[in-house]
This record gives sequence, C-alpha cells and structure tokens, in this order.
Amino acid sequence: MNRIEPKLAATLRQPAELVARGLAPESALAELERVAARYAIAVTPEIAALIEPDDPTDPIARQFIPSAQELDSAPGENVDPIGDDAHSPVTGIVHRYPDRVLFKLVHVCAVYCRFCFRREMVGPGKPNALSDDAYRAALDYIRSHSGIWEVILTGGDPLMLSPRRLAEIMADLAAIGHVRIIRIHTRVPIADPARVSPEMVAALQVAGATTWLAMHANHPREFSDTARAACGRLADAGIPLVSQSVLLRGVNDDAATLEALMRSFVENRIKPYYLHHGDLAPGTAHLRTTLEHGQQLMRELRGRVSGLCQPEYVLDIPGGHGKAPVGPSYLSQPDSPQRDKLGATSYRVVDYCGEVHPYPPPQST
Ligand code: SF4
Repeated sequence: MNRIEPKLAATLRQPAELVARGLAPESALAELERVAARYAIAVTPEIAALIEPDDPTDPIARQFIPSAQELDSAPGENVDPIGDDAHSPVTGIVHRYPDRVLFKLVHVCAVYCRFCFRREMVGPGKPNALSDDAYRAALDYIRSHSGIWEVILTGGDPLMLSPRRLAEIMADLAAIGHVRIIRIHTRVPIADPARVSPEMVAALQVAGATTWLAMHANHPREFSDTARAACGRLADAGIPLVSQSVLLRGVNDDAATLEALMRSFVENRIKPYYLHHGDLAPGTAHLRTTLEHGQQLMRELRGRVSGLCQPEYVLDIPGGHGKAPVGPSYLSQPDSPQRDKLGATSYRVVDYCGEVHPYPPPQST
C-alpha cells in the first residue's frame, strides 16, 4: 500500500528526523545517535516515499534506516573489506587489475546504504573530493600506464558532481588515448532521479571514449516511476546500462524478489551484471546471507528467468585479491568411473530443473 504522507522536501540526515517522520521508533533514538556518530545517514525524499513505515520488515527501510546492530562487529569484518588500500598507488586510484582502475572522485552519496562496503570512507566528515593536486596526480598515473583501458568512476557516487565538473573529468579522461571505456557506478537514478537531468546525461557522453553506467538497485520497489524515467533518459541517450545488486538478508534473499528485481532491470534496459555477496564491512553481519544460500538462489533464478535476466554471483576476496564468481557449477566430471551411474566416461550437466544429464567427452583420435 502506498503512503499518503506528502513527499519530503529535503533529505533526512539525523536520527531525530527519521523519528519525526515515523521511519524509526522514538525508543531507538539514543542508539541511532550512536550509530550516526560513526556512519553517515541520508534518506532522500524519493527513498523515504518508498518506505512503508508500518512494516517492520520493509526491505527499503532495511537498506537505509540505521540499526543498532551496526555497532556489533562480527569475526572477519574489516574497515577495508575488499582491500582497496593495498592497491592504491596514488590517492583516489585503485589499480587491482592490469587493464582497469577505480577512480574515487567523491566521498559523498545521495543515500547511505547500511551495508556499504566503503562505509568507513563515505559521508560528511570525510574528505568530500580530491584536491586539485590529487586529481592531477591521479590523471598523471592513468596517463603513464598505457595498459589502462577502462576507468571506473566510483566513490562515493560520481553523479553527486555537477554536470559541469563531470563533463570536465570525462573530457580529461577521454583525452588519454589508451582510455577507451569510462564506467560510472551510481545509485543516483534510484535515490535522486532528478539529478539525472538532460545536462547530466549530456555530461556523461564524451568524444574519444565509450561511457558505460552500472546502476545499483537491490529491490524491485526501488524502480519508482521517476527512477524508471531517469533510467529511460540514460538509455535513450545510448548509454549502455548494467546492474549491480548486493544480496541482502531480509531485502532480496528469496527467489521471487530476485526474479522481480532482475526483470525490473531488463524492462528498464539494464543488463543484469553483478549480484555481490555481502562484503565483510563492519556492523553488517545482520544483512549478509550465507554463500550456500546465495548459490541456491542462483540455481532457482536459472529456472525462473531467461539468460538475459541472469547476473553473475560474485565475491570480493578480502585482502584485495579481486572478484571471484561464486555461483553454482552446472558441469562436472565423475569422480570415479565405477561410481558413475550416467556413463563411465561422461561429464554431468545439470539442467534448469536440477536434473543431471550425461554429456560425452571429446573422442580421442
Ligand atoms: S551508494 Fe554506494 S558508495 Fe554510497 S553508501 Fe550506497 S553502497 Fe556505499
């Protein structure tokens, strides 16, 4: 059921504002103040309008309304859970793979997700932009490494920059001959769709490089009418769109919700790309699933939607060792010919219903 409260005029940033709006109970105010002292809070009017305040399990609230559980640490949790620091040769750059770098331009976002893997680095109070000197040093680094084919603008959220500044940055990057792809990771089309203005869309397109945009959404209800329109403006401009989602307990950890989320992406011309296993960010254990559950969901998804709707289930290996696909495998060889009931020399292939079939190996000649 949709709420009938008027839409907010401004982003909610304080626990007292969440309480006043009915998005958190007054009894939780003191502990939410303790959470707010460590982690940023921002709930945009667009997101607040999606929350059903009478539902204590609301999947939108669970992503954005802070919880006292964020003050609990679980074994293995780490302030740098995917190991960015180990691969940062200059401020703002993470160079983990030979052909691409992350370029962290800003440390602010339209909303602050309670599961954020960079939660210790983003938000007010952190340096909110690279200094001019650091920006130039980062560009020099990219310029001097001719193997860098793709630059991924991330943060924070790069679409928090003004269209004018973003256009300058895109031009600076496209002027580097070996940079062919500029990929932008953002939650803005969902969290603050009005920022995806015609000027912003124009700023994303630059001669000399191809722009891709990876859009972060975790629940089908995030696709409000205005969010759909923002996605449409990007797609109409010819910008290829891919998705990023995080598998979150109590948000999207059931097959029906994941199915609806992936269908929403595809209906909005966004190719499902990554489903991330929750990173070991501090105070996020209550939002993580097990890997086994994630694999089971991927099996179920394979049986429910077409290949167009299939993301890759990935895990960022702690310590900075990069991403690894961790979805289920559908092909195996028999451990022992004697025990194999399907044929002594066959592979085994699993179909979308979970049934196992033999497949012959190559013939030796
Ligand atoms: S938008 Fe991205 S960087 Fe910002 S809080 Fe959410 S997950 Fe973190």
